[in-house]
Amino acid sequence: MKNIYWHYPDSIEKALDLMRNNQAVPHGGGTHLTGKRLKNENGFVSLDKLDLKYVRKEGNTIKIGSLADYNTVAERLEKIEPGHILTKSIGKAATSPLRNRITIGGSLRLAPNWSDLTGPLVALDAQVKLEGDASGTFPVTDYLSKKELKSNTLITEVILPASSWQSWYYREGITENDHPAFTITILAKHDGNSLEDIRIVITGHTKRFAKATAIEDQLKGKELKQLELDGIAKDLTLKFAPAKGMSSEYIKHLTQTQLERGLTELLKS
Ligand SMILES: Cc1cc2nc3c(=O)[nH]c(=O)nc-3n(C[C@H](O)[C@H](O)[C@H](O)COP(=O)(O)OP(=O)(O)OC[C@H]3O[C@@H](n4cnc5c(N)ncnc54)[C@H](O)[C@@H]3O)c2cc1C
Repeated sequence: MKNIYWHYPDSIEKALDLMRNNQAVPHGGGTHLTGKRLKNENGFVSLDKLDLKYVRKEGNTIKIGSLADYNTVAERLEKIEPGHILTKSIGKAATSPLRNRITIGGSLRLAPNWSDLTGPLVALDAQVKLEGDASGTFPVTDYLSKKELKSNTLITEVILPASSWQSWYYREGITENDHPAFTITILAKHDGNSLEDIRIVITGHTKRFAKATAIEDQLKGKELKQLELDGIAKDLTLKFAPAKGMSSEYIKHLTQTQLERGLTELLKS
């Protein structure tokens, strides 16, 4: 077995230099890397010495350093904005020991289909700050879909608009700690009478993430009392792979059912 070298750079520049010249890969929480067979990589770049473990409110934004772990982010956000959608999603992901390790940067870079981070970040219109070959601030949807934003590049920060939403989150797992087969994120703004704004994001299907814009358009601006939610998700066109002993059609049916339940809970209760 070949030796794996660990590097502990104390600046982003040094970390990028190691990634570019030493075939070393960034190590966030290591929850994915430690179970992976390394191929060309010959070292890990630990990000621990970089000052990237923060969650803070700045004006109209919330800034999250990429090395902040799921548990810390969920707890801090609950203080900044009680009932925050990320507290509901990543605060329940996997197990507590794993949530103490999984970082926002590692999770976003990997963006597995079972991620509890992707849906809320897309719904919130989050921005991602990058350093490296692709430096700058980009919409999270661009980061998730564009390969050219990933090579020799570090995620350093995730920026959320600090806007208050009512929210509902669902993760479909056989047990509480199970990887979700799909997730549903719903954000809504209403004054008790009419629905000012709504955002719905579904993950876990072949497109990885999708906004349910047809349903959003059907609901936006309507009076809450007049909302007709029965069967509203029946035309959802997403395709799911079979998972956890469930057929793709059954997973789609579950998604439609849970989406209707979520909308009813959030808008009618
Ligand atoms: C048993 C188990 C169950 C899990 N269940 C869930 C779940 O239910 N929900 C959920 O959301 N997640 C879950 N996860 C976590 C998920 O599968 C990944 O392991 C996790 O998101 C990786 O995050 P990390 O910080 O540990 O990244 P690492 O393992 O350190 O790295 C992952 C990838 O990201 C790169 N990377 C790391 N940091 C950065 C950065 N700052 N910039 C650019 N690239 C970077 C690495 O080089 C690597 O390619 C689970 C993990 C395990 C082991």
